Amino acid sequence: MPSGKPSVRHPSHSHPLRGHKAQVEEEIICSGCDLDVVGAAFKCTKSDCDYFLHKSCFDLPRETRHKSHPDHPLTLLYSPTYESSAYSCDACGEDGSGFAYNCSICKWDLHVGCAFMPELVEREGHAHPLKLLYGTPCKNGSVFSCDVCQETMPDNLWLYYCKKCDYGTHLHSCAVEEKEEPKRGGGNGRGSTSNGGNKGGRGSAASELAAMLKAQRDMEKMQIELHLQMQRAKIDKKSRKSILNSI
Ligand SMILES: [Zn+2]
Ligand SMILES: [Zn+2]
Ligand SMILES: [Zn+2]
Ligand SMILES: [Zn+2]
Ligand SMILES: [Zn+2]
Ligand SMILES: [Zn+2]
Repeated sequence: MPSGKPSVRHPSHSHPLRGHKAQVEEEIICSGCDLDVVGAAFKCTKSDCDYFLHKSCFDLPRETRHKSHPDHPLTLLYSPTYESSAYSCDACGEDGSGFAYNCSICKWDLHVGCAFMPELVEREGHAHPLKLLYGTPCKNGSVFSCDVCQETMPDNLWLYYCKKCDYGTHLHSCAVEEKEEPKRGGGNGRGSTSNGGNKGGRGSAASELAAMLKAQRDMEKMQIELHLQMQRAKIDKKSRKSILNSI
């Protein structure tokens, strides 16, 4: 059983972990951020235990300050402390059950992936970079709707926004367009009117990286890693699909 590789401990898990190079085919989900894991990761040493962590999730700072919540520091929780054992992310509005950055005073929670979203993204088909906002750009009570999916957005959710064009998108799926592959069973049924700019492609990660690395330090490195990780997770899902399709 014991192999040559040294084991390490992480406070989120009771068993020792060991380095693991995750392959796409393994379809591993990170127990911290709930995203796919490919590449550098940690795996529980117990063979019957499905605990995995991205290396970047393993290394997350225990406490952080976040611009979106300037009054209090946020603490990394390894599982939600709420009775429901889930939390609702105050950035994207989705539920989470893994790691969260939490303010216990305000009962305020962020997915770790959301906590490290880059402040600027490029969206193919839009001439300007989109800026991360921690709430609606609308004044005097009007309601903002996402310019990609047209859904209205609660005032408190984060979005990516171009002020010049008054153009904004949901934080995740709508911000960086995924190439729409023809899905089995009826496509995405969003009406037949296409509004042009909806071609596939993702932000230019390279230029983003260059600019950010120069300007910022440790935290931001993590941010980039997580961002790429999320993008990679999307890509992997896709390539997995095409692998399956080609069998
Ligand atoms: Zn993770
Ligand atoms: Zn375990
Ligand atoms: Zn979130
Ligand atoms: Zn707070
Ligand atoms: Zn949207
Ligand atoms: Zn614009």
